[in-house]
Amino acid sequence: MLQKTDVLVIGAGPTGLTVAIELARRNVKVRIIEQRNQPSTRSKALVVHARTLEFLDILGVAEELIQHGYTSPGIDFSADAKNPLRASMYKLDTRFPYILILPQAETEAILEHRLNQFGVEVERSSSLTHFQETEAGVCATVEYQDCSQAEIEAKYLVGADGSQSTVREELGLPFEGSPYSWTAFLGDVYMEGHHAEGGTEQHSNDRGLAFIVPFDDGSHRIVTIDRKYQNQSKKRQLDLVELQESISAILEKPVYLSQPKWLSRWGSELRLAPRYQIGRVFIAGDAAHTHSPAGGQGMNTGIQDGFNLGWKLAFAVKGTFPQSLLKTYDRERYRVGSQILRTSDLLLRSLLLRQRLLRQMRELVFRIFIPLPFVQRKLAENLSGLGVSYETGVGKLAGKRIPDMEMMSAKHERIRLYELLRFPGYTLILFISPNQAQSRRKQIEQILKNGDEMLRAHVILNNGLPQLHDFRASTLVDYRGDFETKLGTETGRILLVRPDAYIAFDMDNLDATTFEKQLKQWKNTKSFSRTALAV
Ligand SMILES: Cc1cc2nc3c(=O)[nH]c(=O)nc-3n(C[C@H](O)[C@H](O)[C@H](O)COP(=O)(O)OP(=O)(O)OC[C@H]3O[C@@H](n4cnc5c(N)ncnc54)[C@H](O)[C@@H]3O)c2cc1C
Repeated sequence: MLQKTDVLVIGAGPTGLTVAIELARRNVKVRIIEQRNQPSTRSKALVVHARTLEFLDILGVAEELIQHGYTSPGIDFSADAKNPLRASMYKLDTRFPYILILPQAETEAILEHRLNQFGVEVERSSSLTHFQETEAGVCATVEYQDCSQAEIEAKYLVGADGSQSTVREELGLPFEGSPYSWTAFLGDVYMEGHHAEGGTEQHSNDRGLAFIVPFDDGSHRIVTIDRKYQNQSKKRQLDLVELQESISAILEKPVYLSQPKWLSRWGSELRLAPRYQIGRVFIAGDAAHTHSPAGGQGMNTGIQDGFNLGWKLAFAVKGTFPQSLLKTYDRERYRVGSQILRTSDLLLRSLLLRQRLLRQMRELVFRIFIPLPFVQRKLAENLSGLGVSYETGVGKLAGKRIPDMEMMSAKHERIRLYELLRFPGYTLILFISPNQAQSRRKQIEQILKNGDEMLRAHVILNNGLPQLHDFRASTLVDYRGDFETKLGTETGRILLVRPDAYIAFDMDNLDATTFEKQLKQWKNTKSFSRTALAV
């Protein structure tokens, strides 16, 4: 019998789980299938960046991740671990000014638990083998461990099925790029003879490059890219002795390894799909892009793809916004994916320089430029994901990430903006002064009437007492002046914020007629381009 659902997600890695949570928390019927018969225990991605944590904060799981991991100051660029040159995250304007070190298996377990809380279970031992578009959507053939099959019809299909994606192949999308020529050794092991301080320590010499990341339990992730071992077959199982010899040679001192939890010979590829959407089918995460591990971007980009896609799909299923909203996923995330391919490749190539003279020059250049405040800020923003912005609507803040801010309610409770953004629709903010609250009251009330189940409004005063105002929307005070210092905005401004904490459009006046025209165009526009939204 044909089974039906709204969205079928293929793959329960970090990307697929994020899409599924975003749908499930909006009461969209979603199924998520996974070919593996049990959750992965592989540590794989260890780095969780600030923007990912901000999204996971909106999903309500950031604190849990932080409790299980440890924080590290940033990403090291120098190959001299004793004297690190670091892109420090400490000065970033975010609730999470660091990188979180947490094995991917634990991130996945926390995400899966969150999905379960919305009543959705991962359907394991279930593989997508084929799909075809139908009038109502997409009909997928799923094969189970006992070789039985089922047909599932969904309005939309999401391929979050990793770099070997069946969905991408079935779509006939090329995965453009090339494999890297190098092979890395990877081991999660105990180590004696070297003390690593945490973070992402790097070393290099004539033999090659090594990364060392300590885990909470005293063991370490060790990765080496060693010139001596590049001609071996990638299929041969790595043994502890080889890894020990390799890391000792690169550290230039004897190191003793024991109790391996995971040993792997591993290579990555540099590839990007030219499109992330065809019709009702989407690809996300490693299915859409795969690249060098430098900078720890893979899982983070996948989770951020998933977050961008999830709410848009939910709105499309519910018919609350035009289908064209979905097109912005491809446009926005393809641009981010191609940028990440370029930067992570450049970073790895610079670390893998073969000749000593070139390596010395690299160190010199890094030592001159990386400490500069402007370079520090740019590097930290780019690596953390906080620097991503999109082309959305009109207004000087349109398309920018809105940072988290703390406000006070009439009952003196402290409320963070990102807690308000857990609302599944758009968030409308009227940032006003107490004077404007009096003098523009009629216009403000008219604007607030536009609130509905997809749009929740909040009035935010720059000072004064929220309890003195009885608007139909919640009224809070920006008691720390965050709107001015973090957003650089003055009172008398309206901001429409997307569910993924980017500003859809903003206005620098409180005129209700202009606002309603703008909102109408926003809801109905066929294209979310600046011209289409211009009033
Ligand atoms: C050693 C290593 C270190 C890494 N370090 C970092 C890091 O520090 N930071 C970082 O951000 N990234 C890192 N990465 C990359 C990161 O692991 C990936 O980018 C991330 O797993 C991608 O998530 P995903 O959900 O898109 O795909 P995956 O994690 O690959 O998940 C895809 C899922 O789909 C399932 N699947 C595949 N085909 C089918 C099918 N036909 N039917 C049903 N299910 C299917 C698979 O079983 C899998 O569970 C690292 C990777 C490795 C290997």
